[in-house]
Amino acid sequence: MHAQRTEQAADLRRLDNTHVWHPFAPMTAYREEGAPIIERGEGFHLFDVEGRRYLDGISSLWCNVHGHHVPEIDAAVRAQLDRVAHTTLLGLASTPSIELAQQLVERTPRGLTKVFFSDSGATAVEAALKIAFQYHRQRPGGSDERNLFATVRGAYHGDTIGSVSVGSIELFHRVYGKLLFETVSVPSPSGFRFPLGMTQSDYYAHCLDELERVISTHARRLAAFVMEPLVQGAAGILVHPPGYLSRVRQLTTDYGVPLIADEVAVGFGRTGTLFACEQEDVSPDILCLGKGLTGGYLPVAATLATDEIFDAFLGDPSEGRTFFHGHTYTGNPLGCAAAIASLALFEKNRVLENVAASSKLLAGRLRQLADHPHVAEVRQRGVMVGIELVQDRMSGRPFDARLRMGHQVTLAARKRGVILRPLGDVVVLMPAPAMPQELVTTLCDVAFEAINEATRAAAN
Ligand SMILES: *Cc1c(COP(=O)(O)O)cnc(C)c1O
Repeated sequence: MHAQRTEQAADLRRLDNTHVWHPFAPMTAYREEGAPIIERGEGFHLFDVEGRRYLDGISSLWCNVHGHHVPEIDAAVRAQLDRVAHTTLLGLASTPSIELAQQLVERTPRGLTKVFFSDSGATAVEAALKIAFQYHRQRPGGSDERNLFATVRGAYHGDTIGSVSVGSIELFHRVYGKLLFETVSVPSPSGFRFPLGMTQSDYYAHCLDELERVISTHARRLAAFVMEPLVQGAAGILVHPPGYLSRVRQLTTDYGVPLIADEVAVGFGRTGTLFACEQEDVSPDILCLGKGLTGGYLPVAATLATDEIFDAFLGDPSEGRTFFHGHTYTGNPLGCAAAIASLALFEKNRVLENVAASSKLLAGRLRQLADHPHVAEVRQRGVMVGIELVQDRMSGRPFDARLRMGHQVTLAARKRGVILRPLGDVVVLMPAPAMPQELVTTLCDVAFEAINEATRAAAN
């Protein structure tokens, strides 16, 4: 039996290496190392074709909420499957998309009343950018000069060209720079390497000054200010100081610039509230949702907007005020059914209370890393954690990039039955919002052992 499974796994691996081009994977290294071939999931664990069990320590890339193979969500998807798997929203409506839109409007910050569905975080952002751009051209007293987007440095908003344009992960801009449109940016208010001579509070004051300077200087040309509220995820789990988000909202309101909040990563409980904007009582003009929207089951995303924005798209069809945008699988009924079931589970299983308990547990456990010789900084908000590894804690000198230290930690954790995925040398812990504390404890135990093993090996 075991030999048979091993042989089957070897065949699959060969085919994976022959035919599957993995996202964000240096394929030469990937093919040498291989990766677990996942066959099924149960609760917060994944099982590979050889029968090995792994704890899903990154919520299957930040989207899983209630675990895998959840009876209520499975039943909702099956019930929808018995009706119809997919019908279009181009010229037709569908029961699950109507119900989901209404529920999202009920739960998201006030003022957001219209829901535009798509199928990934990047497309939710892409739609938001085009909506903002077109809105200014069509609103009463509008302007054709509003073609510039303001962003926060280090931001990540997805991989389509518009989303990459408003992101500022340096590597992507180096490769795709010529394809991207122009933006202006403000410094991220989170960091531990400050410009020479600046203390943390000097740096934050500088960030607030820059925020006001950039918004006021470019106000007449800004189509929107785009940001990830509270936590910049892919930048390395950069946690913003309290008050930053509400300051952005205040300035964008004062200068008449729409605010696009990208809650693709932080939405659906990960920072402690259902939506991150709630924590600073902020209502954006446009809100992007993805990842956890379906509980991590199916690719559905949403872009929500206010009536004021939506109304600029109304008029006689011949006026051409239509939003000319859509995707084939927009508002997929199976995905919408999963999302509705996921929202019900938030209440039934008191998921936000579980997030509060896990956040507290994580904060306590992470203190153990306070004087680790290779940990420069630990950042946490809710159940989002980034542990920044460095060669030398005192000077903050990074590890040689060729060591792929974050990746070494992933490999060490994998041997111990835990799936992690780093952001460079930032080890990310992203337990699902519904993960029980007992498993969060295991996640910490294994991650810390893996950090010790990988950094010790590099020190020798
Ligand atoms: C992951 C992510 C996206 C992109 O979502 P995809 O579904 O991968 O396209 C956009 N914005 C943020 C903040 C994200 O974390």
